[in-house]
Amino acid sequence: MKNFLIRNLQAIMTGLPGAAARHAGPDIRVRDGVIAAIGKLDALPGEEVLEAGDCVAYPAWVNTHHHLFQSLLKGDPLGINATLTPWLAATPYRYRARFDAELFRLAARIGMVELLRSGCGTIADHNYLYYPGMPFDTSEILFEEAERLGLRFVLCRGTATRTRQLEADLPSALRPETLDGFLADMERLARRFHDPSPAALRRVVMAPTTPLYSAAPEELREIAVAAREMGLRLHSHLSETVGYQDSAQAMHGCTPVEFCERIGWLGPDVWFAHLVKLDEAEIALLGRTGTGIAHCPQSNGRLGSGIAPIRALEAAGVPVSIGVDGAASNEAADMISETHAAWLMQRARRGQEATPAWRGGHFEGGADEATVEDVVRWGSSGGARVLGLGALDGLQVGQQADIALYRLDDPRYFGLHDPAIGPVASGGRPFLKALWVGGRAVVRDDAIPDLDLAELGSQARRAVAQMLAGN
Ligand SMILES: [Zn+2]
Repeated sequence: MKNFLIRNLQAIMTGLPGAAARHAGPDIRVRDGVIAAIGKLDALPGEEVLEAGDCVAYPAWVNTHHHLFQSLLKGDPLGINATLTPWLAATPYRYRARFDAELFRLAARIGMVELLRSGCGTIADHNYLYYPGMPFDTSEILFEEAERLGLRFVLCRGTATRTRQLEADLPSALRPETLDGFLADMERLARRFHDPSPAALRRVVMAPTTPLYSAAPEELREIAVAAREMGLRLHSHLSETVGYQDSAQAMHGCTPVEFCERIGWLGPDVWFAHLVKLDEAEIALLGRTGTGIAHCPQSNGRLGSGIAPIRALEAAGVPVSIGVDGAASNEAADMISETHAAWLMQRARRGQEATPAWRGGHFEGGADEATVEDVVRWGSSGGARVLGLGALDGLQVGQQADIALYRLDDPRYFGLHDPAIGPVASGGRPFLKALWVGGRAVVRDDAIPDLDLAELGSQARRAVAQMLAGN
């Protein structure tokens, strides 16, 4: 169904800035997968009508940073209370060599299903499960699973041409790739999967795992040049903890963002996950170059890394988006929880800076730091901007019909004065009445067609038991 009318919505959040963040609606018309009209609309003869008087509409979420293979690595006791570096050794690096095609496919499916059920229509996955002579193709599996579920999918193809010491010490260390091997695979993937159009369902991105540890500076420079020649974007992790700041000083005598400038890794075609630890000069440099962020508040909270300075970044000109990060450091791939956390944590971060007036302070708290409208924008049109998907610029006429309808029928929403903010402000997963991607219904009445959730759950339990037995 790509032509229909959604009627009598309680509220519409558009994902747009300023006064355009809400639309009075109450109706949305979709024609050929595109939003054709929003307002008080009469049904056309023969038009399919969806009565939505008990629902609010949001733009489908755009998740800009994830590691889907980690969906089977939630709550690992060895990593649950560890900070970033020991956690990497305890969980993702220890387990990733154990993934075969079947386990990888199952993990990808679980993560995608979780996201879909939160109202997410686009996933950018930073997949770093590659090594020379690998017997299965993780890239192909990811695109197949996304297509099966009707998702837009951006593959950020990771690589490492060197092994980090923390991994080299493990018996399960992956062998590094060569730069030539990586670039050859990028050419293959771009030919096969990359659609440069603004409404693309499939994209590929060059994404060495981290600029400081995964490749030599001259290799990173070469990757940036090759990506731009091929019209591909660049993505990586940066400045997640103070460890990045110390490493950049020790290795290059500068800050992590300055290092990225030296190697050609800043610009509107680049976005980094995390950017928690930054100085003022780095914030200005990121802003000046239009380099984007995938803000991952739950993972940053779970690993005790800190809270990224989103308001300062946005004021400097940095495009802001939201990512759930991998499930090994965030036990739910859910854009509702993620935006709820972003909303709260930005306010808490600001409030934490408050000092009493008698010591020279001048404000009480931080509740004006992030509004629900802000986090909806970051999690939807902000993500589309970072990924270069220009036809996903919020709920407005002419844009792709990537729309989530939430029915606020849980008691947590009873008594809300402003239903529009319910999904983000009240937290928890609302009933997903429908999710459309390009006008195609991929979730209906909170269910994914042809998917047996109970069977998926039992497959996950068997897979975890299998992995634990291998320890
Ligand atoms: Zn990550």
